[in-house]
Amino acid sequence: MVVALTLGTLSVAGVGLFFAVKARPRAPRVCRVCGTGVEGAGDLCASCRREAELETVRRATAERAERQRALTTIRNVINATRRRRSDGGSRRKPRTRNSSSENWPADPTRPF
Ligand SMILES: [Zn+2]
Repeated sequence: MVVALTLGTLSVAGVGLFFAVKARPRAPRVCRVCGTGVEGAGDLCASCRREAELETVRRATAERAERQRALTTIRNVINATRRRRSDGGSRRKPRTRNSSSENWPADPTRPF
């Protein structure tokens, strides 16, 4: 009785294992991109792998250029801000003089 139960459990486990192994997706033997047969490991054929590597290099180069451009833009903005700040000091002077002379007669806190 116990032996039969054990055998049954084992066979059920064996069948389950068999189906698990069968259902497991095997590594694709064709190229993921163009569908031609692939030799060895990997899911890309030789030409597509080379293309992918080139794409990676191209993307890295583009990213580097983009970063360089962003850095240059930031540097330009900083320089422009610095220039504007030094300009604004001399440009703000007449404006404050104007506003103070305009406000002076109409100042409500003056005692008369
Ligand atoms: Zn391919």
